[in-house]
Amino acid sequence: MTRRFDGKRILVATHNAGKLDEIRQLFGPYGVDVVGAAEMDLDEPEETESTFIGNARIKARAAVAATGLPALADDSGIEVDALDNQPGVYTADWAETPNGRDFIMAMTKTHTMLEEKNAPHPRHARFCATFVLAWPDGHEEIFEGTVAGHLVWPIRGEIGHGYDPMFQPDGHDITFAEMDAAAKNRISHRADAFNKLIEGCFG
Ligand code: IMP
Repeated sequence: MTRRFDGKRILVATHNAGKLDEIRQLFGPYGVDVVGAAEMDLDEPEETESTFIGNARIKARAAVAATGLPALADDSGIEVDALDNQPGVYTADWAETPNGRDFIMAMTKTHTMLEEKNAPHPRHARFCATFVLAWPDGHEEIFEGTVAGHLVWPIRGEIGHGYDPMFQPDGHDITFAEMDAAAKNRISHRADAFNKLIEGCFG
């Protein structure tokens, strides 16, 4: 039985201002006061697990331990079929450089690996997002979302972030980076996971 959330405040364990804004808006209708990790001066824990659930749990648990508030954390990435689901949880790591993240580099690496393997088209991939909602008494609820599509080359579009310019969702002829934020937020992996969270804990 899924536990309902009946508190007034929820800590969203992300330092990403864009994600926080998006989640705050999504919570708008449910009368919950959303607090961000940066506002509470929380450290960013190391994501040492090899699954989305494991890393989301690390972030949620660290936030609960630091504040005593129930906390929501997410972890996400892109899985490419022909690369045995890489980069997956390591999506952000593939973009890491000494001067910050470079997703053009990460997308180029992904394309090069697919070319080297002569991977057939369409090159199926999916974005995945996992939310962990953790309570101070140790209880947890987990929600997983996905959006299926394929990778395009050359990349297209300027909107969004990360792998958006390389990903064309099924049923659309534009990439996530060519889609306005509202349209992407209706079909994205994060929206899918968030809808399940709302249905399970806030509905
Ligand atoms: P994290 O969930 O903040 O650890 O981020 C994982 C990485 O997955 C991000 O740095 C992005 O590169 C990628 N990613 C997650 N969601 C999206 C998305 O909606 N569009 C593009 N890239 C994404």
